[in-house]
Amino acid sequence: MFPFIIIGLVALLVLLFPYLLQKYRSARRKKIMSEPFPVIWISILESNISLYSKLPPEIQKTLHQYILVFLAEKKFEGCGGQDVSDEMRVTIAAQACLLLVNNPNPTFYPRLKTILVYPSAYKAKRNDGFGKIVTEEIARLGESWTRGDLVLAWDHAKHGAVEHMDGHNVVYHEFAHQLDQEDGEADGAPILKPGGYAIWVKVFQREYKKLLLALQHNLDHVIDEYGSVNPAEFFAVVTELFFERPWALKNKHPELYRVLEDYYGCDPVEWFD
Ligand SMILES: [Zn+2]
Repeated sequence: MFPFIIIGLVALLVLLFPYLLQKYRSARRKKIMSEPFPVIWISILESNISLYSKLPPEIQKTLHQYILVFLAEKKFEGCGGQDVSDEMRVTIAAQACLLLVNNPNPTFYPRLKTILVYPSAYKAKRNDGFGKIVTEEIARLGESWTRGDLVLAWDHAKHGAVEHMDGHNVVYHEFAHQLDQEDGEADGAPILKPGGYAIWVKVFQREYKKLLLALQHNLDHVIDEYGSVNPAEFFAVVTELFFERPWALKNKHPELYRVLEDYYGCDPVEWFD
């Protein structure tokens, strides 16, 4: 009888573990969010994140809370001789959290553990498939992986935050990949609300095909051609546009804009003059 009770208790604990972990994590995040946001970090936001001053006060407040959680949970590592400063951590965290700021229950990029920061564009090393490590010829600005890390070139990460209306932002781009990869697949569809996939797939497939056609026939397009690489890059590229040139996306691709507006829970057009 006794062993059965032990086995029963262990099984119950195993079943309850995800629930208890979730409870613990929520309580810890709530506590972190209640901590004061350092004044010096506000100066960093004001000087580096051009969009920050345009955000409504309640969004700024949530952004502060989410940055605190993000920085408490993620590790930063400098690469290529780069030392990681508070300016880098706050500037990157702010842009990552801006994608979450209208989500009342964000998961804070659960697969991501470490952000690797290079001073500038870097050449990645990879396995050539025969066990030999080779250095790629093309320099990269960022990468996002499902295995727990994300890579950024600091000068471009900062430039994207300062120049907030040019339609390019490597931090939004790589963190959109993290959202997409949260379910383990980089397929251009993040985890959506129940019933959200049908409209997402319909609109995204149609708009992706429209971009391919526009490129094929040399037609005007507001979506960067890098979005034509595959559906995952398309989602990352339109995320950059949604937060940096929302009026252009809304004007030319109203349905795509509406789907993104529903997903990100905001209408960034309202943040711009
Ligand atoms: Zn990409």
